[in-house]
Amino acid sequence: MKAQRTRSQERIFCLLKTLHRAVSAQELYLELRQRQESIGLATVYRALEGLKLQGAIQCRTLTTGESLYSLTQQDQHHLTCVNCGASIAISECPVRELENSLERSHQFKVYYHTLEFFGICHRCQLQTAQTIESAR
Ligand SMILES: [Zn+2]
Ligand SMILES: [Zn+2]
Repeated sequence: MKAQRTRSQERIFCLLKTLHRAVSAQELYLELRQRQESIGLATVYRALEGLKLQGAIQCRTLTTGESLYSLTQQDQHHLTCVNCGASIAISECPVRELENSLERSHQFKVYYHTLEFFGICHRCQLQTAQTIESAR
């Protein structure tokens, strides 16, 4: 199924493709501005919403409440540190098999899935250990 994209949707889709990382609507807006493209923030949000409904992009919400957008082809999962907010990408996807079987059993076309792990990163663990150490 090939959805008809608007011009701003196309611009944002192309930009996301070149960025190779998940970005916020605000960042996208600034990126477009830097490229001398005149586009309003409201248009960016509207275009993102449209692309999301087409299954072209996915949205990930951080612990800060900020939403990051990326192309759905990037089946990427992260370990997020609740202390410093560090986001560490992991290379494997543990649920791809599950996704396939759910599509079959529910006759549901899955666009994407999200899977996130939250905890304390290695650096923060060390820092916490040091704080306890120096408090002694
Ligand atoms: Zn951390
Ligand atoms: Zn995955």
